[in-house]
Amino acid sequence: MIDENWSEFMDQVIEDSLTNKPEAVDGYWCDDCDIFIAGDEYDEQPSYECGSCGEQFLREDSYSGDNHQCPSCMKFASKLVDIACPECISGELREYQAYENSNGEWVEKL
Ligand SMILES: [Zn+2]
Ligand SMILES: [Zn+2]
Repeated sequence: MIDENWSEFMDQVIEDSLTNKPEAVDGYWCDDCDIFIAGDEYDEQPSYECGSCGEQFLREDSYSGDNHQCPSCMKFASKLVDIACPECISGELREYQAYENSNGEWVEKL
């Protein structure tokens, strides 16, 4: 006697293997360093460049942790970009949907 649940389970496995496409992830892309950053790993924040010592930093790395004060010399810095790349600081992120291919690379979902 064939177990009903088992045959339902196998139908589901077969269906999954036919329709199993990688799931797209909402995130950001940096054109400067060609990286994808998943949306849940990043909070949008601006970056700044200090006119006094030249340091570039993210808002969360500022002197106070939440303003545009240079962490090195405490002078107020001017804004570089609105949605800053956490890798290169000066790159601006754009919204991007991607999925991971079988090589572990992020590919834009078209
Ligand atoms: Zn500075
Ligand atoms: Zn970047």
